[in-house]
Amino acid sequence: MKVSDILLQSTKAYPSLEIVPPLNGISRKELLDSVRPFIEFSPKYINITCHRDEYEYVKNSDGSFTRRLVRKRISESAVCGAIQSEFKVDVVPHLICGGATKDQIDFQLQDFRFMEIENILALRGDCITGEKRFTPQEGGYRHANELVSGIREFEKQRECEGFFSIGVGGYPEKHFEAPNMEDDIAHLKAKVDAGADYVITQMFFDNSVFYSFVSKCREAGISVPIIPGLKPLSTFRQIELLPQAFSIDIPQELTSEMRLFKDDKKALYRIGELWCINQCKDLIKKGVPAVHFYTMGKADNVVNILRACF
Ligand code: FAD
Repeated sequence: MKVSDILLQSTKAYPSLEIVPPLNGISRKELLDSVRPFIEFSPKYINITCHRDEYEYVKNSDGSFTRRLVRKRISESAVCGAIQSEFKVDVVPHLICGGATKDQIDFQLQDFRFMEIENILALRGDCITGEKRFTPQEGGYRHANELVSGIREFEKQRECEGFFSIGVGGYPEKHFEAPNMEDDIAHLKAKVDAGADYVITQMFFDNSVFYSFVSKCREAGISVPIIPGLKPLSTFRQIELLPQAFSIDIPQELTSEMRLFKDDKKALYRIGELWCINQCKDLIKKGVPAVHFYTMGKADNVVNILRACF
């Protein structure tokens, strides 16, 4: 079922789950076992992240280097297929502009259609390791709004208009490259105007930031559903790593509490879980259509949060 239809028909907030394809070497059984704990909550769909192939430089015996293309993770199509067949749950693969030409994106869309996957989260993707700024592939898309238009064009050419329900990313604390929030929201509107059906946000730890973002989006004329993204903190290091990696703030109250229990792994885990439960309950109370969880392949805390909130 299309996410846009689910959002139209839902009468109460539901959990949306995002998983990361496993690293090479992990078996199909191990992957499915890591997803299985979520199945008791009858998820309406599961998002699967997309990762670019990368280049590695291998040193030759004469001191020169050979550039080698490496894929560190199992492809998202393989993961989608495994989840569809094992759990009969809809999947939402993420599709990124980075590293692909427009033709390659069309081939991927062809495969999704063949697999009866009707949902896509359309994103630009991040820089590859070593890059300071995102460099589009020659013959590829530069921004997610172009990708959304490309998907809608693909549907037109194959006479299957509206086959895909398309989600896009939004940033309650502003995307790190945007000069200001207004500019970022104008670009978000361009994605919706190009044909996106809904928005999923970057993670945030202060709900007031999300509510203010939604108000600004509505003022800017963005009327599609906006799904908040949450991630429970689970380790002390994350209070340094997440702001660096995602350009987000962690509230002082949460930071101080984590510092108090710096060396107590169990306590830190529980603090992150409880903070997320409080955020989630408040979001549901305020009427969000769904809550998206960045599970990062770890089920325990998200399962506890789902039990407490849904
Ligand atoms: P864009 O919408 O293209 O925006 C990127 C920047 O460019 C912003 O600053 C924006 O203001 C600006 N901009 C946008 N359009 C234009 C335009 N037409 N002209 C000029 N400037 C413009 N990354 C992955 O690699 N794989 C994933 O699976 C993945 N999943 C994600 C899931 C969610 C819910 C979110 C929120 C992010 C995810 N990301 C993923 C990260 C995402 O790829 C990065 O945040 C990336 O840097 C931006 O992607 P975007 O689609 O928001 O890009």
